[in-house]
Amino acid sequence: MLTNLNQQSILDFDKGDPTMYEAYWKSIGEDFKITISASEALSYFANPKSFCWFMLPKLEQEIRNLHNVVGNAVVEGRHIVVGNGSSQLIQAALYALAEPLDPSSPISVMSAAPFYSCYPQIAHYMRSGLFKWGGDAHAYDRDDQPYIEMVNCPNNPDGELRGPVVNKANGMLVHDLAYYWPQYTAITKPVDHNIMLFTMSKCTGHAGSRIGWAIVKDSHVAKQMVKFLEISTIGVSKEAQLRAISILEMISTNSCSTNFFEFGQFVMAGRWKTLREALEGTDILQVPNFPPRHCNFKRNYIECNPAYAWMKAQEGINLEEVMKEENIRVRGGGTFGCPSNYARLSILGRDNDFDQFLKKLPSIVKRLAHSKF
Ligand code: PMP
Repeated sequence: MLTNLNQQSILDFDKGDPTMYEAYWKSIGEDFKITISASEALSYFANPKSFCWFMLPKLEQEIRNLHNVVGNAVVEGRHIVVGNGSSQLIQAALYALAEPLDPSSPISVMSAAPFYSCYPQIAHYMRSGLFKWGGDAHAYDRDDQPYIEMVNCPNNPDGELRGPVVNKANGMLVHDLAYYWPQYTAITKPVDHNIMLFTMSKCTGHAGSRIGWAIVKDSHVAKQMVKFLEISTIGVSKEAQLRAISILEMISTNSCSTNFFEFGQFVMAGRWKTLREALEGTDILQVPNFPPRHCNFKRNYIECNPAYAWMKAQEGINLEEVMKEENIRVRGGGTFGCPSNYARLSILGRDNDFDQFLKKLPSIVKRLAHSKF
């Protein structure tokens, strides 16, 4: 996206804002428009008999349907909790796991570097007595204390498929599966972990609706997560839930001329292809390679095309700063627990911005080749 800052046009690839999906939803036209009258959805409640009393029953059904269609997560016999984006559900999960232990000192929350840059912020910003940010999971060496490990698969920022790294007896895991969808990676099996988080933002591109959901095995943990949502926001907007119902139903029933995931795969594959072509023959700026994997959803081998390019320049270079000199905003390695010669580029923006980035690549490579460090 182009922002006007100090009279200069800045190309912003810092945030993972999923505007690439606008083109698809525009092509769908008005069919999935929802209108809500002033008399609808006034109550705090959506389903007073359910433990997740603010979730519309039809949304729960559509979430279950979608996972069954895609085959990426086990939902049978599991509890669903809707949240204001998965950001709120990360907090709810940390609360639900730590609160019953009533710890005398905050429990460490960690993730293997490079980790999603918001985990430290989320774990730290309230300076909770329940949990605190514990840094890179690779460096954790305590045997006697409970801990929570965030496992992000495929991982933001580097696209790696990962499992937990600490593996000690007192560990509790939260699996953040925001990108476990066919446009980004091969769906190899329906995963079945204790707490799994998903979000509309990265599945359908509706980041603005702020709808995420958790699939939870243990009913007490699920209830504790609901308690967190009850105290922090008294639930989740019914308007947003209604919109999510319409979008998820459309995707599951494949009721449009172009399949949604086909579109996503096509765009992501095209962007990675052109990015790799533009970097061919140089090792000044590197991006990771991913072997093709068998995708059960596509019933074929597919290339994995992560939502971000985790770029690496020569050691000693501050890649974020070099990009800034070219009026390109990326997120530097430091926020992911890594050195500054790494930076994350979002692949999820609009076509035009991505094309402009590609046009600038030769001059970025030239600048990197001449950088003093
Ligand atoms: N987890 C990961 C790994 C993410 O990349 C994001 C969004 N950037 C989130 C969670 C939060 O998503 P949201 O709050 O929009 O649902």
